[in-house]
Amino acid sequence: MDILIAYSGDAAEATRTLIDSYGLSGRIGDKDTAIVLKPNFVTPSDAESGATTHIGIIETLVQYLQENGFTDITVAEGSWVGASTAEAFSSLGLGRLARNYGIRLIDLKRDRFRRVSYGGFDMEVSETILSAGYLINLPVLKGHCQTRMTCCMKNLKGCLSDRSKREFHNRGLSKPIAALNAIVKPDLNIVDSICGDLDFEEGGNPVRTDRMFLGEDAVLMDAFSAGLMGFAPEEIGYLAAAAAYGIGSLDLSQVHLKELSKPCASSARPTGMAARLARYTAPDMACSACYASLIHALKRMEDNGTIGRLGSRKVACGQGYRGKSPEIGCGACCRGAGISVKGCPPTASDILAMLESL
Ligand code: SF4
Repeated sequence: MDILIAYSGDAAEATRTLIDSYGLSGRIGDKDTAIVLKPNFVTPSDAESGATTHIGIIETLVQYLQENGFTDITVAEGSWVGASTAEAFSSLGLGRLARNYGIRLIDLKRDRFRRVSYGGFDMEVSETILSAGYLINLPVLKGHCQTRMTCCMKNLKGCLSDRSKREFHNRGLSKPIAALNAIVKPDLNIVDSICGDLDFEEGGNPVRTDRMFLGEDAVLMDAFSAGLMGFAPEEIGYLAAAAAYGIGSLDLSQVHLKELSKPCASSARPTGMAARLARYTAPDMACSACYASLIHALKRMEDNGTIGRLGSRKVACGQGYRGKSPEIGCGACCRGAGISVKGCPPTASDILAMLESL
């Protein structure tokens, strides 16, 4: 499966690059196809907090679809239990967008539901989602305090009634999420990985990554995403459950990654709790994606209890290290380091393996 990736901190620009290259308009079919966009508005938090889908992604998609003659466009989401989707729509600018472009907004908490089941899990899924002619999933890649990460597969939980969302938690999340993905299969996933949160889905500790990626298979997309955050796919419970159900593959050798642009240097640094990990780093003109991979690898070491192996050493990262010889470095720019890992940018998994071998 192809995964297209674009490096940019501008959500609108990255979206346009991805969908132009993918040839989205030629993939959808009839101009009157019911197109549903499913973002992540888990709470009314600003996208820069690392919790929600950037509005520029949705606006760019709507502009593109209308330029190409598509007329039936809906943005549909249900926030988490206890949060108001209407408030998220209002505070994140969806009302303005709907008025300006004449598109439909649906609060999935108030939708009609159909009771469906898979693998022994009953659930109430939105009719709008089940009847979509072309479903575009717009998740945020970020950490999660229970499932460790959330991206394409878990984003579909917003398509459930609040009652089913509660039942999912009672039943351990992983298997129900996999079962939901056997029932709802997006036609396309466009991942907002501009600044996802380090470890909480409600945001507050964003890690600047400045990238977005696109692909069709939600399971394989999440297996790929796990590596970006420093996890083996099997470590994520809902991915392991999906593989056990036979609804997708975790075999990353099936991924054909197409880079549409190159990472570029950024001075942005992690904030909030993520900032404490920066003391193990020595960035010099580091690209966001490279530095974010390092921060995620350090977070995994902190979680695993192995971060003490670093002692007082710092990991070099960035274009400023070209031609230099730091002790430990990550990415192609640090190939002169005593110990280094390849990649431009390297994944968090590869950095983690290198650091844990110290
Ligand atoms: S290896 Fe160098 S150029 Fe490549 S992403 Fe990292 S810092 Fe940027």
